[in-house]
Amino acid sequence: MNYHDRQQRLREALRASRLDALLVTHLPNVRYLCGFTGSAGVLLVTAGGSAFFTDGRYTQQASAEVKDAKVTITRKAALKTAMESVARKRLSSRTPKALVLGIEGQYLTVAERGSLAEVEGKRVRIREAPPLIERARMVKDAEEIEAIRAVVDQGAALFDCALRVICPGVREVEVAAEMEYAARKGGTEGMSFETIIASGSRSALPHGRASEAVIEAGGFVVCDFGVILHGYCSDRTRTVYVGAATGEARRVYEAVLASQQAAIEAVRPGAKISHVDGAARKTLKNSGLAQYFTHSTGHGVGLEIHEAPRVAQGQQETLRPGMVITIEPGVYLPGKWGVRIEDMVVVTEQGCEVLAPTQKELIVI
Ligand code: ZN
Ligand code: ZN
Repeated sequence: MNYHDRQQRLREALRASRLDALLVTHLPNVRYLCGFTGSAGVLLVTAGGSAFFTDGRYTQQASAEVKDAKVTITRKAALKTAMESVARKRLSSRTPKALVLGIEGQYLTVAERGSLAEVEGKRVRIREAPPLIERARMVKDAEEIEAIRAVVDQGAALFDCALRVICPGVREVEVAAEMEYAARKGGTEGMSFETIIASGSRSALPHGRASEAVIEAGGFVVCDFGVILHGYCSDRTRTVYVGAATGEARRVYEAVLASQQAAIEAVRPGAKISHVDGAARKTLKNSGLAQYFTHSTGHGVGLEIHEAPRVAQGQQETLRPGMVITIEPGVYLPGKWGVRIEDMVVVTEQGCEVLAPTQKELIVI
């Protein structure tokens, strides 16, 4: 990964935002900028260079992983040491002007924000930074797309595993367990979120985590799952029917599939994201099901399972080549059942490419 270029681009963005430095505390952002994969560390990016602070648990890991930043191992909290270094530098500086330090306010606890305030005023002004790194992360480079392809392939294979297990009488957690076991055996770092296996009336819960519920004949099973590989996440949903599918079930499934297809066809460079969401909704409206589609159409995926951009109504962001988003419309009939179909797509120069595409006709078990 080209950490040097990422940091340089961030410096330009800092200048444009009138910030002298940025205190990066959100770990996926830290990883994106310098490669550190541990669970405690702070990166301070200034015009002149970057400094990384962590504690003794990560001495070896930091020296192996951190690129383009000077590493400091501290006995105190990394955040506190980073701030002390900012304050010290300012006190020894000859310029009387205060240093404007950006922070990632949405990721700091109230206590952490309070500890930062201790150095405020000593020629340091703290300001909430705009989401500069999140914006940069929206567009993936070739190396990231390669990593995402690999994780999507690994994640997609888990559906075959689910198909082998799903049948009447099996609990939802057993299906999730088999998938998660296969994921680990396959070499992934873990699941990118808690596996959703929602059967029967639970399939009408858009986020129905696998429960003790027993899968019964005569209903849908929504399987939403993903894995992490080399830090990158996958996200995919398939819905199957257990038992003899009714005409209504088939109609709803076909409507969701048509909605997903329409949204995928709307993904191209230059398209407004709200337009993609609108394409999914319009198709469902034609089937009289739009009121049962209760969430947004998708989201960005990368180092985090949910990241910018949101694929939702009113989103003015424009699609650019290299963006990776999910397209996941769903229809949920409360108390009855639900259907969702989700794929990850990468925006290309011409349109988009569905990652690990498969046939999506209704599978009946
Ligand atoms: Zn999902
Ligand atoms: Zn998703």
